[in-house]
Amino acid sequence: MRGSPPKIDAKARLRIEVKGIVQGVGFRPFVYRLAKDCCLNGWVRNTSGNVAIEIEGPEENLGQFLSLLKEKAPPAAHVQNVTTRKLPVEGDIDFVIRKSQPEAGKYQPVSPDLATCPECLAEIFDSENRRHLYPFTNCTNCGPRFTIIKDIPYDRPLTTMSGFTMCPECQAEYDDPFDRRFHAQPNACPKCGPSLQLTDGDGTPIPGEDPLRKAAELLNQGYIVAVKGLGGFQLACDATNQRAVTRLRKRKKRPGKPFALMMSSITETEKHCQVSPEEAKLLLSPNAPIVLLRWHKDVSSVTSLVAENNRYLGVMLPYTPLHHILLSYTSRPLVMTSGNLSEEPICQDNGEALRRLHNIADYFLLHNRDIHARYDDSVYLVERRTARAIRRARGYAPTPIPLPFKSQQVLACSAEEKNTFCLTRDNYAFLSQHIGDMDNEETMEHFENTIGLYQQLFRVQPEVIAHDLHPEYLSTKLALKYADEKGLRTIGVQHHHAHIISCLVENGFREPVIGVAFDGVGYGTDGNLWGGEFLVCDWNHFERAAHLEYVPMPSGVAAIRKPYRMALGYIYSLFGAEIPLTDLPIISKIPADEVNILKAQLQRRLNSPLTSGAGRLFDAVSALAGVRGQVDYEAQAAIELEMLAPDDISQFEPYPFLISDGADPAVIRLGELVSAVVNEARNGVSPSVISARFHKTVAEIILETCRLIYRQSGPKTVALSGGVFQNRLLFNLTVDNLKKEGFRVLSHQMVPCNDGGISLGQAVIANHKNNGKE
Ligand SMILES: [Zn+2]
Ligand SMILES: [Zn+2]
Repeated sequence: MRGSPPKIDAKARLRIEVKGIVQGVGFRPFVYRLAKDCCLNGWVRNTSGNVAIEIEGPEENLGQFLSLLKEKAPPAAHVQNVTTRKLPVEGDIDFVIRKSQPEAGKYQPVSPDLATCPECLAEIFDSENRRHLYPFTNCTNCGPRFTIIKDIPYDRPLTTMSGFTMCPECQAEYDDPFDRRFHAQPNACPKCGPSLQLTDGDGTPIPGEDPLRKAAELLNQGYIVAVKGLGGFQLACDATNQRAVTRLRKRKKRPGKPFALMMSSITETEKHCQVSPEEAKLLLSPNAPIVLLRWHKDVSSVTSLVAENNRYLGVMLPYTPLHHILLSYTSRPLVMTSGNLSEEPICQDNGEALRRLHNIADYFLLHNRDIHARYDDSVYLVERRTARAIRRARGYAPTPIPLPFKSQQVLACSAEEKNTFCLTRDNYAFLSQHIGDMDNEETMEHFENTIGLYQQLFRVQPEVIAHDLHPEYLSTKLALKYADEKGLRTIGVQHHHAHIISCLVENGFREPVIGVAFDGVGYGTDGNLWGGEFLVCDWNHFERAAHLEYVPMPSGVAAIRKPYRMALGYIYSLFGAEIPLTDLPIISKIPADEVNILKAQLQRRLNSPLTSGAGRLFDAVSALAGVRGQVDYEAQAAIELEMLAPDDISQFEPYPFLISDGADPAVIRLGELVSAVVNEARNGVSPSVISARFHKTVAEIILETCRLIYRQSGPKTVALSGGVFQNRLLFNLTVDNLKKEGFRVLSHQMVPCNDGGISLGQAVIANHKNNGKE
């Protein structure tokens, strides 16, 4: 018993509204305890729009309450705005938590799922605790959120936990404002919560007491187990077992793309990788993303097949109790990759997983808590001591990106690869979690369903739809269809303009910049495939100030899978048809009839669209240097070229290049660069040296071109965007060069520099164009 509530001489009463991520993160119990500590009476409740508090007591105590409200908020809360209003005193005699009150049209940000907190972790491994080894343990500071919410306000009946009735002990925790699990919506224990089941590949249950221990045994024996996680299925196998990893690659139809790993702890991770303090902080954060770490291949027991020809290993720490327990049983790093067939969306339901992963997994570790939203693992890297998103999903979405202006309601549908969408309203941009490449039916469906979910959760009814200029992208077609059905305005946004603006928005920068957008290909306003672009731009307009020289892509986008074709495209368009191809390591091995067909295509300009894509230049150089002629995942040729560069490249000289500044836009001529690479490759210079010199050249091209644009009265701020800047070597060289020259440099952190960030830029540009009624 806590005794009867104290009588307080009320002096004033306040109505307080708190906006931000304040539901599902232990905010109301925090308010309750704070009110008690400050000897104040009144109530707190969740509404659809925010957390509302009415509170009364001595003015001094109210002041103290208000200052502590923001300062001491729970770790997962994100308070954005607090408003107060004076009310007449009502004479409340206690402080209570009232039932949630939905309000029509109101909305509020939803918390992402959060990794298991230290307190819950301690309970799981405490043999005296009633949650000992219980894989669904959580509290108000950790556990599933976004993946289980069907609608707001965030209360148990509106989550996929609605089917589980709490046992008296769990209910008592849930009802006790002094308990860590007070109003923890997914609260559960072995008696009343979700449970596991292990089945074989056909869905037949494997008998036994402990499905997790059995699954660990199977993993240690080399089997592939599909594990139902937070936001979908993962495929797990022993990362130190070459045969298991080979089998997973074959079955998943993923021959080369690196796999992510899960390791039990930072200590374990340090046995395999270099971990900086910033990287450790990111790994251990409640967001718990995959972090790309420098891999000590020589001492690591992880098979090199996990990430061949790569210096980095994608590692995450266990982020659910299930993962913690599983890893404690296997005592070795596990491959933990999305449960899908190459490029399809991650599997969500038990039935769907058994159907779609039937030919990949030997066993299935299932549970009966439904996943309402698919949610891939996020991927980050740390560069220049800053965490930078590569794939933004679990732990981050749907936390909105704050907008420095009040936005209209816009839906932006992005481009094609690594798709996300973005919905805006008020000062928020709800950038969706990573959805995937929009080239198959399943991903399209996932895309449309997730738009529906976000519209529902955040009560957005778009007035305008933004899309890429590429007429053939499925996302463009979807945007046009959607706008047509609803009678809405559509605004096409140039791909690279969207890249640069996404970078400006997350930096809160509104002045004009020189935008350097380097990526594979994006549709240009002249119908060519851009991607080596220097734009002078602001939130409304852009002007193409310079670009890499156009070259034909023989056989069109098919050349992306075969970088040697891109190499031929450069050679023939820059030097004519007669240059001999002998002595070049990869190029000389292309069958003669293929060369002839490509030559004919190039001469007659058949199926050979022009591109200025920087990614294509990397491809061509990779093939010419003898690194890679064909790829089985995106950017593989460029990544392997980067990985070959020595750690210290200060002694290497860049190759020559030329900027034709008479032209408008200026054109960066690449003939000398490509011919130098060809000569070096022919003379047996190592790919490692070619890589070093080439990276230096590209950084030099960027510096020279920015210098030129600035001299012609351009801005002194440069924004870097586009997937090519995932290249750490190029990114660092470029930033160093520009800073040395006195440029201010803006780069990405919260939002991926690749196409995963494009929808944010599209939404902001469309908002401004629509506002200006252009
Ligand atoms: Zn917890
Ligand atoms: Zn229980």
